Amino acid sequence: MPIRPENRARYPRDWPRIIARIRFGRAGGRCECTGRCGLVHPGGRCAAVHGQAHPDTGSTVVLTTAHLNHQPEDVREENLLGACQLCHLRIDHGHHRITRSITLAVRAAAAAQLGFLADADLERIEPPALPRPPAPRTSHPALQLPLPDQEAP
Ligand SMILES: [Zn+2]
Ligand SMILES: [Zn+2]
Repeated sequence: MPIRPENRARYPRDWPRIIARIRFGRAGGRCECTGRCGLVHPGGRCAAVHGQAHPDTGSTVVLTTAHLNHQPEDVREENLLGACQLCHLRIDHGHHRITRSITLAVRAAAAAQLGFLADADLERIEPPALPRPPAPRTSHPALQLPLPDQEAP
């Protein structure tokens, strides 16, 4: 997963070294998922290898590092899993759902508040004055006089 800006401070300084050790040391460049993602991997372990086509999706695998307990601070080896994008997404899925529902609730509250403020503002705003229509030419007294040729019977 890309690191969310608000979570950046939660990652240790040597995070790049840690992930290199996990992904390419322990995992040997291959997804370490053995079914935690909910998929049944033939042979027991995901066959996705970094830089190669994913056996399921066909897209190039970029090995990522998943936090099994979703806590970025927890970089114990047993909490980290070198995982392909697919397994990582699926492992995080439950967690994302919770995060997303919180995000949506916060957004809804913010939108409701904005709506409330907008309504309050609208009540204070006078409707704009309509431009005065130009005076009709016929309103000039001279033009209301009958024309000479209309006078004759
Ligand atoms: Zn995988
Ligand atoms: Zn998996």
